[in-house]
Amino acid sequence: MSRSVPEWIGKTDDTPVPPHVRLRVFDRFKGICGICTVKIRAKRWTCDHRVALCNGGENRESNLWPIHEACDRSVKTPADVALRAANDKVRMRHLGIKKRKRRPMPGSRDSGIKMKIGGGWERR
Ligand SMILES: [Zn+2]
Repeated sequence: MSRSVPEWIGKTDDTPVPPHVRLRVFDRFKGICGICTVKIRAKRWTCDHRVALCNGGENRESNLWPIHEACDRSVKTPADVALRAANDKVRMRHLGIKKRKRRPMPGSRDSGIKMKIGGGWERR
C-alpha cells in the first residue's frame, strides 16, 4: 500500500509532464500500452492525452496514459486529428461558417428556387 499523492495538473496545456508523473502514469497502467494493450518494454513510449488537448482534453494526470510511440504515430494522432476535423465541420455548419463548395442542385432547398409539382417554379 502506498500513500496517495495529489493528482498532477499542468499549469498550462504546454506544461510538460514531469518525470515522476510519467512514472506514476506508467505504473498505473502496469506498463501496458493503451492502444494495442501490449506490454511496453522499450524506451519508445509517450505519455499520451487520452482525450487530446485539441479535442478539449485536459493536461492532467487522470487524462494521461502510456502508449507506444509507434501506436501514437499510426493510430492515436490520426484518430485525434480526424475527430477534431469532424467536430470542426459540424460546428462550422451550425455557425454558418462553412462555404458551399459547388452550385446547389436546381430545385433543391439551397438553390432558392421552388419546383412546383405540376411543373413550373417560383422563388422561395
Ligand atoms: Zn502500443
